[in-house]
Amino acid sequence: MAYTFNTDAPECPYCQRKQTHDGGFFYDEDLTEHECDHCGKAFDVEVYHSTSWTCTARPAH
Ligand SMILES: [Zn+2]
Repeated sequence: MAYTFNTDAPECPYCQRKQTHDGGFFYDEDLTEHECDHCGKAFDVEVYHSTSWTCTARPAH
């Protein structure tokens, strides 16, 4: 099964073109499918969010 992985935007698994959309549309975890901007084929989408924290000690004074 063909699939793509990208951290910038969804990438069509048929034509490998990166999808474009205004706003936070592609960041909605309810997004499960999308029709390619370029070739018009529909494919399934899974949205993953990852969060990390960096904590830095303050200098002594
Ligand atoms: Zn496509």
